[in-house]
Amino acid sequence: MRRLHVGIDDHDSPEGGCTTHFAAIAVKILFELGAVFEDYPLLVRLNPSIPWKTRGNAAVAFRVLLPEGRVEDAVEALLQASSEYRGATRHPTSSPGMVFAVDTDPGAFRAIYRKALSDLITPELAARYVERLGAYVPNEYRGARGVVGAAAALGALLDGEDYTFELLAYRSPEHWGTPRLVDPASVERMDRETRPYTFNNYDPQERRVLITPHGLDPILLGIRGESPDVLRRALELVEVGEPIDAWLIFRSNQATDAHYVPRSIAGLRPYQAGIIDAVVVEAPWVLPKGHVILRVSDGSGSIDAAFYEPTRVLPRVARGLVKGDKLRLYGVVKPASTTRGLTFNVEKLEVVEIVETFKLVNPVCPRCGYRMTSAGRGKGFKCRRCSYRDPGAAKEKVPVPRSVEPGIYVPAPSAMGHLVKPLQRYGMEKSAVRRPLSAEEWSWYR
Ligand SMILES: [Zn+2]
Repeated sequence: MRRLHVGIDDHDSPEGGCTTHFAAIAVKILFELGAVFEDYPLLVRLNPSIPWKTRGNAAVAFRVLLPEGRVEDAVEALLQASSEYRGATRHPTSSPGMVFAVDTDPGAFRAIYRKALSDLITPELAARYVERLGAYVPNEYRGARGVVGAAAALGALLDGEDYTFELLAYRSPEHWGTPRLVDPASVERMDRETRPYTFNNYDPQERRVLITPHGLDPILLGIRGESPDVLRRALELVEVGEPIDAWLIFRSNQATDAHYVPRSIAGLRPYQAGIIDAVVVEAPWVLPKGHVILRVSDGSGSIDAAFYEPTRVLPRVARGLVKGDKLRLYGVVKPASTTRGLTFNVEKLEVVEIVETFKLVNPVCPRCGYRMTSAGRGKGFKCRRCSYRDPGAAKEKVPVPRSVEPGIYVPAPSAMGHLVKPLQRYGMEKSAVRRPLSAEEWSWYR
């Protein structure tokens, strides 16, 4: 048996293409060639701030064993399928990529994965990097943006990295473009019955179903959770009124905070993702649409941190912050749009320490208990009620209760980025890779 690694990215298009849908076709092709999957198919989210990303910037990777002599057939069949898929869903803004590696230790590709999670890489650099490690980048993909995600996906989700699973169910072609027949009440019930082993599938506050995408793409629904078992059970609990063509369970870096690299403000570059530890240096500034801007500094420099309204939680907390509060900010860097320099778009906020705030009030009359008034500049205070005077009296500091408490704040599920770890996953992190037991555990075709 030979080991084949396949990375795929950017087969999306607004006319119905989708990298994860192409993945379902590719998995079937590999099954037919006798492939044994050494790992679940991988659904790999990459740097969310990349300006030209399609949808969620998701790539896919496979790690399979193939009978001797079948590797070339597999590569050829996948290239053929990709070309047909793109022919059917061609779109000017997509730039598909596929990368192959045979018998290479995927650990060799870990560095490019880490880089693609939190930084900007060109397709040329990605191709050169993985080719040096023995990977094969077919000529037709040379220069394509999708090469970056395809190359990076090869090195994703190795031992020691946290992961989750997502079950994707695919629609039958005759239903593409029609409303998805998924019963919202059953999704709410599924969410209640499978928590905390599933997450971000339903927003109870907004009463909003989050498992169904919109638009033309062939995905019927996607359920996110901690194990293949819980996802298969969750799918049974959801009432679907249309045929399902196939479903696959992917192992994923979604909801793991994988893209956050500790950084200093002075070192930040546009489109990087990271964590900064900083102190509030100016009062929050509320923009007309409810977004909040907060100037923060870490000693190396200062930057505007932006908290966007759709996240609901983040601007509400940011509004209550004051100068001196210590924060840990998780987010992505956006290029300068104002004279104030770069902006750090906050995806998650930790209030580490809050300062005490005070207001100054006039002192109380020691004789009658009435609050005194100023006796004039530098003359202390006098009592209007009993005429007591105290030239030495000064204003008193009275503590003002804070509206914000230390803690971790994440956006509402409907506004949370794919990679952002929700609060309910804290303590559920996994580090040892779980290998699939059988293909039936994670795949089904009609
Ligand atoms: Zn008095």
